[in-house]
Amino acid sequence: MIGTSSVGDGVGRAGVLLDAAALTRCRRRVHLDHDPSAAGAARALPDPALEQRRADASEHRERIGAALAAATGPSWRPVEVQGPSAARAARTAELVAEGAPLIWDAVLPLDLEAGRRSRADLLVRLPGGGYVPLLVVRRRITDPGGGARTTAVTDPYPQRARSDPDRKVRSSPRDLLALAQLTRMLEAAGWAPAGRGPVGGVIGMDADVVVWHDLAAGHWPGGRGTMAEYDVRFADRRAVAEAAAAGRPALAQPSRITECRRCPWWPTCEAERVSIDDVSIVAHGETGRLLRTAGVGTVAALAELDPAGPVPPELPVPLPGPPFADLVALARARRQGRSVVRRSESVPVPRADVEVDVDMESFGEAGAYLWGALLTHPGGRRDGDAEPGYRAFATWDPLPTEDEGRSFGEFWAWLTGVRDAARSSGRTFAAYCYNEQAENRWMLGSAARFAGAPGMPSAAEVQAFIDDPGWIDLFTVVSRWFLCTHGKGLKKIAPAAGFAWRDPEAGGENSMRWYRDAVGMDGAEPEESQRERLLAYNADDVAATHALREWMSSDRVREVPLVSEL
Ligand code: SF4
Repeated sequence: MIGTSSVGDGVGRAGVLLDAAALTRCRRRVHLDHDPSAAGAARALPDPALEQRRADASEHRERIGAALAAATGPSWRPVEVQGPSAARAARTAELVAEGAPLIWDAVLPLDLEAGRRSRADLLVRLPGGGYVPLLVVRRRITDPGGGARTTAVTDPYPQRARSDPDRKVRSSPRDLLALAQLTRMLEAAGWAPAGRGPVGGVIGMDADVVVWHDLAAGHWPGGRGTMAEYDVRFADRRAVAEAAAAGRPALAQPSRITECRRCPWWPTCEAERVSIDDVSIVAHGETGRLLRTAGVGTVAALAELDPAGPVPPELPVPLPGPPFADLVALARARRQGRSVVRRSESVPVPRADVEVDVDMESFGEAGAYLWGALLTHPGGRRDGDAEPGYRAFATWDPLPTEDEGRSFGEFWAWLTGVRDAARSSGRTFAAYCYNEQAENRWMLGSAARFAGAPGMPSAAEVQAFIDDPGWIDLFTVVSRWFLCTHGKGLKKIAPAAGFAWRDPEAGGENSMRWYRDAVGMDGAEPEESQRERLLAYNADDVAATHALREWMSSDRVREVPLVSEL
């Protein structure tokens, strides 16, 4: 996405070429992407979830293109040139010279002077001449409300935009900055409309309207317009990239932020941060930056502070992120090589006579293909009770598939059947998961997508299940009663309970790869062995939540030191 080229390659004064993605990315990532000495540094394997999202976005774009072509007839002119972007840019220039009203899949000429490159899903010609950009994204771009400036998707002309009574704009800095970059490139090419303010359009996931953004309006902190914000950011990212490309001192250092989770440079950045004992190892994002600014730049320095004492005067109160005392405790635990510490003497975990551990596997946004459940009877098994143990409700038709509704319906019927049998016999019931957001989202989504399928609950029934105190999120329990120095993911905390996964490669990202093979995506032969691997992985995940709560309910949990003992 981001390119580096030397001046000798024909790139002008800037020496680097940035596309719009650099504007919202971590500055250190921009540095590493342009640092020739980082070429051999460690990187994470490609993220299959990200690859899938890209494929989905591309499919969405193609669908919109086909709809536009059908609706706008001869006005719609696709670039339709395969191969190097220079050839596509040349064809785009020809269509601009012809005055084509709508140019689909346009590539703009490289702005070598400034160091920009970009492509637009659509260029829209205005009545007085000149083009404005339009992007097709696979995100929601509006919320219920009013005031967005919109046109129909089949009528993508900003001069016809009206204030929409049913939609308000959902903020997306990424889209606005991408439109600003295209606007600057249209200006540089001499293709921008004269005498009107900058404007750009976006078609989102629902593809119900085009939202038109006034790129001069003050949507940014301090009332800055998008173009002004863009210019400041672009200058900053270009400086970072140029310094890296030229081997000058880095203008951006690694610091742990949310983006790190999906960043290919994570192995390199993590090693660097650990080697200097950087405070962001335990204090992420803005919290780490504030601590560093206040002179608390290392984990060792943070561990020296008094957790019960006042927050150092250089720091804002309240500090964003975890409470100050927790940050100091995390630093101390880390210094002592402990991955988990306890906040209190006992760890209350709700238990029941009949218990089910639940775990769902999904493939990107395509669907939830496997619901796994582990049934146990801590209150004693009775005649007529379902067999204890693990069972899987799966579809192995490649997603998306109607068969997903069949497997979810069977899971739901089984789960609620166990619950109802327990409660009608006077016993308590609880179902457990780890981090309920994904399970809740897919349960609600399945009820909506497969409404009317056999065994399918209504959305209200699913919501009632989610709201029931018998549906317990163990992530919330862990977050409340423990501090974890290496994160609170199930893979991090379950080993403290003595649990180990059978498959040494078990993990969310690998499971995405296994799934592709298991169902034979892209026309390959389905691999039975990968299905078995996924089932074993899911069975271990529910066994892990079971082991975790058994451990938290036992005296063994007291072997974990208390925060006050650090
Ligand atoms: S791992 Fe984090 S700090 Fe490093 S480049 Fe990526 S996002 Fe930036």
